[in-house]
Amino acid sequence: RGGQAQREIPFAQPGSLTKVFAIASGKGGVGKSSVTVNLALAMAKQGLKVGIVDADIYGHSVPAMLGVADHRPTQVEDLIMPVPTPSGVSVISIGMLKPRRDQVVAWRGPMLDRALVQMLADVYWGDLDVLLLDLPPGTGDVAISLGQHLPGAEVVVVTTPQEAAAEVAERAGTMASMMHQRVVGVVENMSYLPCPHCGPEHKLEIFGSGGGDRVAATLSQRIGSTVPVLGRIPLDTSLREGGDVGKPIVDADPTAPAAVELSNIAATL
Ligand code: ADP
Repeated sequence: RGGQAQREIPFAQPGSLTKVFAIASGKGGVGKSSVTVNLALAMAKQGLKVGIVDADIYGHSVPAMLGVADHRPTQVEDLIMPVPTPSGVSVISIGMLKPRRDQVVAWRGPMLDRALVQMLADVYWGDLDVLLLDLPPGTGDVAISLGQHLPGAEVVVVTTPQEAAAEVAERAGTMASMMHQRVVGVVENMSYLPCPHCGPEHKLEIFGSGGGDRVAATLSQRIGSTVPVLGRIPLDTSLREGGDVGKPIVDADPTAPAAVELSNIAATL
């Protein structure tokens, strides 16, 4: 909006009643977006009004996971309407701000900052109870922008049990805390595979073990207050399939152990 004063971010105003959670990870592929959409759906099932900002420039996979991959936001005067999804959460994605879907986002810091502010301030979110932000992996420009614009956002760190994932997740959590954001806890995803032969009590540790505990312990020590492990989500084919077909597991298969764990985590946030 050339020439006009920038609109303020409603969630940054004193007295805002919207809780903002940024979902962060150290690297891609650990399930950050899957966790974001399923937590959002679980919260919506609890009766909360939930919005998602997909700020993952590398992935922007949230719309597809919610079944609205081809949807584009409409505009009313100079406000962007978030895209409603079948599961009742509203979403805006950095992918929706591109002129063409197949265009690669190769933006530098200032443009990413503008895109983030646009998704927060120029979108008509209404009265949300919760806003979830799917951050790009790592400690890049978007995470820094978010820390500057929304220091009150709380951060959930997603990792797998694997050593290499845990190490980079610690960095992401440490950076959030340096930006004065509260790190609410760690979600360990792909924690184990319930053995398909001997039964679910036998947990196959495909990606090793200890990543979640390690990230929680390191962040607790660095931050100086307890950062808990919020939950451990098993590997589950239906979680992956749900994401692929736009019907997240929390809606599609709510009694699956992975869905139950995600709902429990949502209830603690
Ligand atoms: P990220 O956002 O961290 O890059 P995604 O959420 O896109 O990760 O997940 C990467 C892939 O792994 C996706 O295909 C997703 O469906 C799959 N996935 C994530 N978590 C699980 C899980 N617990 N069980 C099975 N597949 C999973």
